Amino acid sequence: MNGKLILYVEDNEFNRKIVRDLLARTSYRLIEAVDGVVGVDTALTEQPDLIIMDIQLPGMSGLDATRKLRADPSTARIPIIVVTSFALSGDHQSAIDAGASAYLAKPYSPRELLASIRDLVPES
Ligand SMILES: [Mg+2]
Repeated sequence: MNGKLILYVEDNEFNRKIVRDLLARTSYRLIEAVDGVVGVDTALTEQPDLIIMDIQLPGMSGLDATRKLRADPSTARIPIIVVTSFALSGDHQSAIDAGASAYLAKPYSPRELLASIRDLVPES
């Protein structure tokens, strides 16, 4: 049986590698997008089981991308974990208002991210 599909929208290659390595030891399958526009397109076409969305993205922000996905019936119910390396005051509320299912601000550990993923989408 195929693992659950996770889309990670993140422009920073270092962060993408951390999550790639983290999920390589699980049954989750990972696809990646490097900006908000590609992230929204990929979510619409691939219909992942869960999305991890960085806030700080070139072009369209992760919050705007989250709002777009929430507004489309085909992606409205996909769990989205919004993450940020640069927590600004009010980010948590903005993420929830945009439709995030969960929010993690740096410094969070890969273990915390994995716990949040498993909480929303059990591995099998
Ligand atoms: Mg970023």
